[in-house]
Amino acid sequence: MTDPLRHRVDLKELTRQEMTEFLAGLGRERFRVGQLMRWIYLRGVTDFAAMTDLAKALREDLAQRATISDWTPEAVEESRDGTRKYLFRLADGETVESVRIPMEGGRSTLCISTQVGCAMGCSFCLTGSFGLQRNLSAGEIVNQVCAAAKEGPVNNIVMMGMGEPLHNLDNVVRALQILYDDDGFSYGPRKVTLSTAGLVPQMRELGERIRVQLAVSLNATTDEVRDQLMPVNRRYPLAELMAACRDFPLQPRQRITFEYILIHGINDWPADARRLVKLLHGIRAKVNLIPFNAHEGSDFQPPTGEAVEAFQSYLLARDIVAIRRASKGQDISAACGQLKGKLERAEGVISKGPKDVISDK
Ligand code: SAH
Ligand code: SF4
Repeated sequence: MTDPLRHRVDLKELTRQEMTEFLAGLGRERFRVGQLMRWIYLRGVTDFAAMTDLAKALREDLAQRATISDWTPEAVEESRDGTRKYLFRLADGETVESVRIPMEGGRSTLCISTQVGCAMGCSFCLTGSFGLQRNLSAGEIVNQVCAAAKEGPVNNIVMMGMGEPLHNLDNVVRALQILYDDDGFSYGPRKVTLSTAGLVPQMRELGERIRVQLAVSLNATTDEVRDQLMPVNRRYPLAELMAACRDFPLQPRQRITFEYILIHGINDWPADARRLVKLLHGIRAKVNLIPFNAHEGSDFQPPTGEAVEAFQSYLLARDIVAIRRASKGQDISAACGQLKGKLERAEGVISKGPKDVISDK
């Protein structure tokens, strides 16, 4: 094979430090790193020839040795409520999705993926039923933000798309470093939320390596139920998970978000609300209550409105911040994992039946 382009480095894969080393390898001064990052992330330029404040010789060198990847969605769906879902085709043919969710005041949050599929196998989650295809690289994580930013500012980022971010910790940390860079998007750690199913050792490592807003998908208040909903609980049961949450370093006024998907008859009982209050004791927490989003891959049912109301009231009465999160983008199945599901069903890829772990209990 004599394709010279195969050896080019994609600059979007590099943290500031790695880009500095790369430029040093070309014999270039350090201060060019900031200029290069501003071209890439602030101006969205992918053609070295257009980087007019860099010496021509450097631009030519870069064009020989590097590339800047640039993503355009293969499909975009827009929901009646303004939620936009992007599907991206990766170089190896795999697909990932991101969802832009409009917020009050013209702001928007982008939900991004960190893996193709997911190894965690949660029984309520469509992504879980695909298994893990592969990790996303740092550049593939960052490119979801770049592509969405072309359509307008992205104020907040949540890693709640496909995949378990802490199962891809190194690339996720490098992507965060790129997203935080002052010469790039300069996101502050409070603008980015990482959601985990509860990989305890990696939670501890994350806290040591980088600052980020942490969300934990709790979804149950007993090990018995959580073992069934989230197999990761068999490895790291509730007591260990809650201890890791207590130890997680928080900034002043910062809280951990606990995601709780309410599933009819499974985890939406008054006793669950009572146990949840006990579990959260001593943790600076807020709770997001998310009605289960029904999909073809699962027999679970959404909770009744009354059950959600009662659950929320119980928490609020005990001074726990509990927000009921409307599932946006329902008409385009924007709940994470569902676009890919729809597309691949249409293509006949999905042949597996529903993973039915506890519905006959
Ligand atoms: N793997 C990480 C990151 C995101 S998972 C985690 O589990 O926290 C995707 C998010 O979608 C999680 O918050 C999960 O609880 C939620 N989710 C998955 N399937 C859902 C469904 N059927 N209805 C509502 N929320 C769902
Ligand atoms: Fe993976 Fe999160 Fe879905 Fe569980 S809920 S299968 S951890 S993506």
